[in-house]
Amino acid sequence: MKNNKKQVVIIIIIFLLLLAVGIAYMTYMLNRIEKNTNNSIKTIVKNDANNLKVEITEQKAILQSITNKILTENIVNADEIFNMYEKSDITSRFVRLAIMYDNGKTITNDGYEKDYSEEKKHFFASNEIQISTNRTSKIDGTEITIYSQAINLKSEKIAICLIVKTDSYKNIFSNKVFEGKGFSYIVDESGNIIVNANNDSKTKNLIDNIDSMLVGKSKEKFETYKDKIMENIKNEIPGTRTLQTDNGKYYMVYEPIGINGWSIATFIPSKAIAGEINRALLTTFILAIIVIFIILSICIYIVISNNKKQKQLYEYAYIDPVTKKGNINYFRKKGQERLERKSNATVYIMVLDINKFKMINKAYGYKTGDTILYGIGQELENVLGKGSIICRYSNDYFAVLFEYEEGIRKIVNKIVRNIENLKIGNNVYNLSVNIGIYKVDTDNNIAEAMDKAIIAHSASKGDVFDKFHIYDKKMEKELVKESKIESEMYQALMNKEFQVYYQPKIYAKDGQLYGAEALVRWIHDGKMISPSEFIPLFEKNKFILKLDLYIFEQVCSDMKMWKEKYQKEPIISVNVSRNHFLDEHFLEKYMMIASQYGINTNKIDLEITESATIEAGIDIIEIMNKMKRLGFMISIDDFGTGYSSLSALQDMPADILKIDKSFVDRIGKNEKNIIDYILTIAKELKLTTIAEGVETKEQRDYLLEKGCDIIQGYYYAKPMPEEEFEEYIDVL
Ligand code: C2E
Ligand code: CA
Ligand code: CA
Repeated sequence: MKNNKKQVVIIIIIFLLLLAVGIAYMTYMLNRIEKNTNNSIKTIVKNDANNLKVEITEQKAILQSITNKILTENIVNADEIFNMYEKSDITSRFVRLAIMYDNGKTITNDGYEKDYSEEKKHFFASNEIQISTNRTSKIDGTEITIYSQAINLKSEKIAICLIVKTDSYKNIFSNKVFEGKGFSYIVDESGNIIVNANNDSKTKNLIDNIDSMLVGKSKEKFETYKDKIMENIKNEIPGTRTLQTDNGKYYMVYEPIGINGWSIATFIPSKAIAGEINRALLTTFILAIIVIFIILSICIYIVISNNKKQKQLYEYAYIDPVTKKGNINYFRKKGQERLERKSNATVYIMVLDINKFKMINKAYGYKTGDTILYGIGQELENVLGKGSIICRYSNDYFAVLFEYEEGIRKIVNKIVRNIENLKIGNNVYNLSVNIGIYKVDTDNNIAEAMDKAIIAHSASKGDVFDKFHIYDKKMEKELVKESKIESEMYQALMNKEFQVYYQPKIYAKDGQLYGAEALVRWIHDGKMISPSEFIPLFEKNKFILKLDLYIFEQVCSDMKMWKEKYQKEPIISVNVSRNHFLDEHFLEKYMMIASQYGINTNKIDLEITESATIEAGIDIIEIMNKMKRLGFMISIDDFGTGYSSLSALQDMPADILKIDKSFVDRIGKNEKNIIDYILTIAKELKLTTIAEGVETKEQRDYLLEKGCDIIQGYYYAKPMPEEEFEEYIDVL
């Protein structure tokens, strides 16, 4: 699912890109808006400055025309001057006209007389038109501005003063367009506030006023640029500033009007202008978000549908539809990865199959067959853990790679147990499994490692008594040998390459012949192959079933011949493979052959191995009872190696106990107590005892002394062809 990650990363990158673009766009917009705002405020303020300039210029021009008239028409009488003024059409623009004499005495057209001796200096300082700062009228207490010009009459010096209501300037300011939230000042060159358009200044100076608006950091920052503002105002240079006050952001624009050194300073709160802009911005933002959302949705949709497809492809390629575990591709891929990841853990590969799974499919139907396969996959995961790599690689064949540090037999036995008693719902299925185990060594190729597990599995295949085999190097050679034997065995049977050898059984006390054990020999191309090389294979591939019957028939045929030739009927034992026990009618076949040759079954001893008597799922007592009913004698072969309890022996209708060679071998090595014990028990159970593999006189003497009944072994005779054995019968 590497692709998955890639796609997510791509989506994240796209998202981040969009975000970056969005942020860049927003910043750009905000910058532009700020610039535009500044520009438009500047334009407005410039306009205001211009209007103010026009107003002042006009008023100055009016005053100039009045003084010009006085001088050119030689008007000296105050009343005449007042008369001229009152007759003009300009009176509405002024509060009044005043004439100040050089002693400070001032009279007005509306009949007031005041003394300005203290301020008169200002009015007579030059003959240029002068404009006063804002002041309070001595007559009516209103805020006024005075335009004045000193003129020299013949007899005296007077100053003509036109009084304007400072308030009238306020109408010039268009900051009203900002919903009345802005405010403006006219300041002189020192920043002193001449006109306070909104009557809201708490201080008389622009700088102090700004200072009073600011708090905290921005107040500190203001210290660094307030001199610059002062300087600009003084030098009549326009400027703008953004001020962060505790009442929000303000744009401040100052603009010289070009008269008197005056400037306009206007403050607009960003709140006032933000409304419109914010709406535009918000729309853009929402649009952007919608676009981003749509693009993201498309991306996510593509990724999801892609993942689905990917997952489907992955499933086709790697998942087994029946078990929902891996298939062979999955196993090879994951297994290879695991083998390449070096670690100290012990890794095993297990190959497992169900015996005669075809029969299960036939018996229960394919649907149940699939359910069982699913159940097996689950069971493997339950026992081996989720970390194991499980696959079903064909029909009923599973392969698992897993780590395990304890004794492998323990866990494999558990798997065998759990699968053989697989429970699905309320049904218990009695399955039979075969397992091959390979303990991974230095392998770094999964296919080769799996082959070894398969080799171990083939070694166990069909072996109902040894459920699992662990790979060892010899197996490969064995497998080659086995497949050679398997290819030849049927032909060998037809060619009568299998022969019966007889090994005499001798009474310990007098050396007389008791009987013999029939042992198979394979004479192939003139060479004799020992049973140990082919019996285990025939046990697995079930050829033993045929071979045993063939040998049994040979034995019956020989017995018939001896009876006729020598009138002797020695007891001959034949080995019966435990594989027969799985077929409940096998004894009928033995019966038929015996009766065909007219052999009395009580002259035939069936040797069954001790380990076969403790096989799960086989009722050996039942089988033995049947053998007895049919008249056969029964020997328990290899006794002592199968760990069956002696008490179990009590219930068995056996006649003879064959003590395994391994116990006989211990005689003379001070380890005799087991054999003594077995002999004692056998006597108690009234069983005849035979010791096999007796090779020395010492062993024979010991066994005789301990009461063992019959001796079989090289000490007396090796297994021999029928012709040789006839000599034993002859002397019987
Ligand atoms: P087994 O049934 O335990 O047979 C006894 C084995 O011990 C025989 O080996 C025999 O030759 C060997 N033996 C007897 N006395 C001595 C002795 O003093 N020293 C030594 N070293 N060995 C002795 P064999 O014939 O190679 O057979 C091996 C096994 O093959 C048998 O073990 C038996 O389990 C199986 N087998 C042989 N013939 C048949 C057969 O016809 N049918 C079946 N099902 N199994 C057979
Ligand atoms: Ca035997
Ligand atoms: Ca034996």
